[in-house]
Amino acid sequence: MALKSCTVAVVGATGAVGREALAILNERGLGSDRVIALASARSAGRTLHYGANEVEVLVLDPRSADRAFQRADITIFAADADTSRAFAPIAIERGSLAVDNSSAFRMDSRVPLVIPEVNGELLCKDAEVVASPNCSTILLLVALEPLRRRFGVRSIVVSTYQAVSGAGLPAIQELRTQAGDALAGRQIAPRVFGEPCAFNVFSHDSAISPATGLNVEEQKLIDETRRIWNDSRIAITPTCIRVPVERAHSESVAVELNEPVREDEVRLALASATGIRVIDDRARNAFPTPLKASGIDDVLVGRIRPDPGAGFDGRGRCTRWCLWLSGDQIRKGAALNAVQIAELLARVPDARRAGEPSQRRTSARLRTPRTQSSSAAS
Ligand code: NAP
Repeated sequence: MALKSCTVAVVGATGAVGREALAILNERGLGSDRVIALASARSAGRTLHYGANEVEVLVLDPRSADRAFQRADITIFAADADTSRAFAPIAIERGSLAVDNSSAFRMDSRVPLVIPEVNGELLCKDAEVVASPNCSTILLLVALEPLRRRFGVRSIVVSTYQAVSGAGLPAIQELRTQAGDALAGRQIAPRVFGEPCAFNVFSHDSAISPATGLNVEEQKLIDETRRIWNDSRIAITPTCIRVPVERAHSESVAVELNEPVREDEVRLALASATGIRVIDDRARNAFPTPLKASGIDDVLVGRIRPDPGAGFDGRGRCTRWCLWLSGDQIRKGAALNAVQIAELLARVPDARRAGEPSQRRTSARLRTPRTQSSSAAS
């Protein structure tokens, strides 16, 4: 069954990810009569553009949730982790599959954590809730998956340059307001972030563990990468940084492969992969940027080069490679990844699946999520 024959609910439809999900569903040909937009009581009475049409925003309360989830074949959750924990089990119970953008279920061993280009095969007929990974992890693994498949990956050193919109719509407004205030010589008053975000760069705003010195975003990169690649031994050294960019994250990556490889082999693997576009013009000094990546599906990859600290073997091969990527974290890092998961779920051949509401599930497996991560942040 094609996704455009399904009814899709979006929880958090007024937010950065929810709005993008609606835009992508519209691009995919889903009619406005097949979309249900839900948000908090703050959005009561609002409408949202959906292509040439408008959709009414329903308040997510137990009554409207009941009705919405009974109609919906698939529900995309794009609100906070607590909302997903509270309402995803209800969605399943009412017969809707759930795709979750929050951190609520990512480390729950019963819930597949999926990037379609990497491990889409996990979407079997038993998947009722599917988690979409953290945005930085999605962009990193889409870029590295072709190298992992061909050569194996032993270790990764990654530094992120993360756009403010990773913290949601209010953060975009904060950057615009602060930029205006700074240029006008007015005092800056940080609200979303602890540090001024205009004309500034700072360590990621998630909490730092006193024990490890890692912030939550860095820990997610480690935990989610190991889970998605099913490789608990892979060594990952992340540093996550917020930069004054409105949209699209960038990452500087050094990856150690399991075997020495020639540069043309690395380039061929990246250039022929799904979901990646190589922009690597040394003569023009033209490489991926957040502006080039904004609003597009592909992760942009460039600055592909051998690690000068690693050296070559006698046959011109190297095990450590450096690259730079930029990717739209609202789109491929969240909304698009969720819609791609929904498209795969819609196709899973299961009589109870999307489009056949008469054969809805009557019980939920996920009443008490077995969550390994206690973080409620994204
Ligand atoms: P956002 O712009 O702040 O939007 C949050 C959305 O959640 C709004 O629609 C809000 O509705 C809704 N919401 C909040 N509390 C609710 C409640 N109790 N019941 C129903 N709806 C509620 O945030 P976002 O950036 O889109 O993030 C959404 C989710 O995606 C988060 O879990 C985030 O961690 C994850 N994510 C975000 C990104 C990113 O780049 N932004 C990337 C990957 C994953 P109101 O407008 O009514 O308040």
